[in-house]
Amino acid sequence: MLAIKREIVEKIIAHARNEKPKECCGILAGKDNLITHIFQLTNIQTDPDRYEMKPEEQVQAFEEIDRLNLEMLGIYHSHPHSPGSPSPVDIMRAFYPTTAFFILSLQNPEKPELKAFEIVKRKVREKRFKILV
Ligand SMILES: [Zn+2]
Repeated sequence: MLAIKREIVEKIIAHARNEKPKECCGILAGKDNLITHIFQLTNIQTDPDRYEMKPEEQVQAFEEIDRLNLEMLGIYHSHPHSPGSPSPVDIMRAFYPTTAFFILSLQNPEKPELKAFEIVKRKVREKRFKILV
């Protein structure tokens, strides 16, 4: 099963809080289904309810992932004020079917909620994952 280190979850939450009311976005990487690295990218969308990773930073992240001999295991973004399920735009623009699609919802600011999904050909399935210390 996919697992993610707690410190990475905390970094996603901090990133989401910093970018609020905009969405934040980034790439998660690791090995053997364990997410150990986070690349916090710039969201270049001006529309607060969307995100688009800055292409140059995305390329840099991919290069770094290669250099460290890791795999891209997830993409994340935040929903600053809506539930943590993929929006129609998220589903339409899920370009990496083999990568877990993480959404962090800050709908309840005191209780950030991280969910993961698999989106294949516009079909959404929630994906279970473990948080490891
Ligand atoms: Zn979204």
